[in-house]
Amino acid sequence: MQTPTTETTSLLHTCRNCENTFNGSYCNQCGQESADPDHTLRGILARLLGEFFHDVKMFLFTSLELLLRPGKTISGYLSGKHKTYYNAFNYFLVAGSLATVLTLWRSQVHPETIQETVKMYEQTYQQMGVTYNKSTLEFLAKYVLWIQENYNVILLLTLPFLALATWLIFRKRGYNYGEHLLINCYTYGLFTVLSLPALPFMDTTRPDSPALFITFPLVLLYYAWTFRDFFRISWGKAIFRSVLSQALYFVVFMVFVAIATLLAILCIILYFSVRKALG
Ligand SMILES: [Zn+2]
Repeated sequence: MQTPTTETTSLLHTCRNCENTFNGSYCNQCGQESADPDHTLRGILARLLGEFFHDVKMFLFTSLELLLRPGKTISGYLSGKHKTYYNAFNYFLVAGSLATVLTLWRSQVHPETIQETVKMYEQTYQQMGVTYNKSTLEFLAKYVLWIQENYNVILLLTLPFLALATWLIFRKRGYNYGEHLLINCYTYGLFTVLSLPALPFMDTTRPDSPALFITFPLVLLYYAWTFRDFFRISWGKAIFRSVLSQALYFVVFMVFVAIATLLAILCIILYFSVRKALG
């Protein structure tokens, strides 16, 4: 057995967290750092700022890499490069939260009541010469306003369905459903980041909003670019599969919503009939 030289023994640390003996800046058992803790106000602030800027830098780096080299970035992350790129699920959450903050801010600056939204719908439909039902419009207005206020919840809800769609389309490539969740965290996350500058100006409550005509093709295009780069397929195939994945996602999501609504109605009927039976 080799005896450690005095030089290496002097570098050995006893972990402050788990008492393991290790060499280097971090404990190889639990990750605790070897440097002396600095609990002065200056030390705490420096640490907080350091962590914050490291996070921001990694988020921006990951965004840029996802935009320019989505294939290399996603395959790198899936193969375990977790220190180079921002954690996929957190990336999606941060992007969604930023989008929610901007949407809420926009609705604070331009508050829209349900009545105003309904009026706007009426005007648009009258101009288009479409016949409408007022209660349907009220329902639509409530729905759109609810979506605006719960943007991140909606994003989280759509994720499993998007992953199911891409998993079905690319199932022969051998990536499992969990991996497809991560692929979509990055792809949909970056799309959300790209749409951030436009969000304060977007009037999503308008049925004829130009934003919808810009964002949807952008989603399709970015998904196609990712598919092309990640799965190494032609532009034609990538665009076709991008359109297919969005259509499939939409159908699956609608089927899910229909089943959920049906179950909810059944529960309500059951609840009232049980209450009636019990008197
Ligand atoms: Zn340790």
